[in-house]
Amino acid sequence: MADHVSDHPFDDALTDDEAAIVDDASRFAADVIEPMAEAWERERRFAAEAFAALGPAGLTGLLVPTELGGRGAGPVALARVLEELAAADLAAAFSAVVHNNMARAVATSGNEGLIADLLPRLLSGETLGAFLLTEPEVGSDAAAIGCLAERDGDEWVITGRKAWVTNASHAGALNLYAQSDPSAGHRGIVSIVVDPEAPGVTRTEPYELLGANAMGTGGFEFDGVRAPVADTLVPVGQAFAAAMVGIDLARILVGAMCCGLLRRSLEVALAATADRHVFGAPVADKQGVQWMLADVATDLEATRLLTYRAARQLQEGLDATVMAAHAKKQAARVTQTRVADCMQVMGATGYRRDAPTIPGGNPLPRHLAAAKVTGYIDGATEIQNVVIARRLWAPATGRP
Ligand SMILES: Cc1cc2nc3c(=O)[nH]c(=O)nc-3n(C[C@H](O)[C@H](O)[C@H](O)COP(=O)(O)OP(=O)(O)OC[C@H]3O[C@@H](n4cnc5c(N)ncnc54)[C@H](O)[C@@H]3O)c2cc1C
Repeated sequence: MADHVSDHPFDDALTDDEAAIVDDASRFAADVIEPMAEAWERERRFAAEAFAALGPAGLTGLLVPTELGGRGAGPVALARVLEELAAADLAAAFSAVVHNNMARAVATSGNEGLIADLLPRLLSGETLGAFLLTEPEVGSDAAAIGCLAERDGDEWVITGRKAWVTNASHAGALNLYAQSDPSAGHRGIVSIVVDPEAPGVTRTEPYELLGANAMGTGGFEFDGVRAPVADTLVPVGQAFAAAMVGIDLARILVGAMCCGLLRRSLEVALAATADRHVFGAPVADKQGVQWMLADVATDLEATRLLTYRAARQLQEGLDATVMAAHAKKQAARVTQTRVADCMQVMGATGYRRDAPTIPGGNPLPRHLAAAKVTGYIDGATEIQNVVIARRLWAPATGRP
């Protein structure tokens, strides 16, 4: 395989511990995700085998401080981990991110009881986490969520619906965002740990998606569900801001996942075009094909530079909001078109999941469908433009 595709230009920035985490992720992708990913998609089922192996592989507490049993990885190492996982399968990678975020939230904001009881289950992989912000009527305008959390003594009483919940089909712990005071707008939002088996919770059937079905995405309904106020993760007044702070890292990690999809697609296309002959010569000898894949390589390099620059800024404690938006926008856009280009140079074989000439099958149809998802998760592409444009005009408007 070509060195410029497989050698990662940002590995020098990792500490020895971080490099070990990336190695773990790389092995996990090859040993656990690759062999099963096509079956998860074909059968439209959650990547249960991957989640079962995630804890033993040491990949459930990536964002949890080491003193609490996690691995305390920084943004650059996390991006490398997600690039490795998504090169095998975006759905399994994103499912893992959502779970890791739940573990981080409990470790950093949970009460003693949650840290003693829930955190070990999240770290071992016994319990799967999910993040519930989006609702059937509310996505991008997250401050407008309508799921209600009303105080009744030392309990929250929750009523409403949540949609597009990654890991919904198998989640055992929910990080739910709800509105405690509709007149307060985003300042009324609170984040609470909710047990999906509590009375009044209904888990809806997983959605049938174009791709990335292994994320078990679906919805929940809450009808007077009771949760202890003590299980509040981020209190009223701070929860919305906390979600917005976490979104920078989330967007960088989507950028890294796109790098994984692009990298793997380019590798498969390079090998296939070297093997296949047309008009008496390898497909790879045709300049038109070379230029298409050269453009894929350029977009991969550019996406990596933006993504890892944003990761580095975040790691250094600098404001990474705009750079993360640039990275996610660029990554989602080029991945959607460039994975298709990689398929195109492979001829009809590129379109076939069970292509006999590709060892282990052809991941490109799965990667192409998953690439579309990157234009929605952690903020649609248009919302990245909202973030970028707001900052462009900040000096003129005086608004941050
Ligand atoms: C597979 C999958 C998994 C997901 N997992 C989760 C999860 O685990 N938890 C969770 O909470 N959410 C999750 N989401 C939801 C995701 O965050 C939302 O889809 C996203 O925020 C966009 O919201 P929406 O789909 O409701 O689109 P809408 O907000 O309804 O937007 C519709 C269109 O209008 C555009 N638009 C909106 N506002 C503006 C504007 N100001 N200017 C210009 N254009 C605008 C949007 O970009 C979009 O194209 C998931 C989504 C998918 C597809």
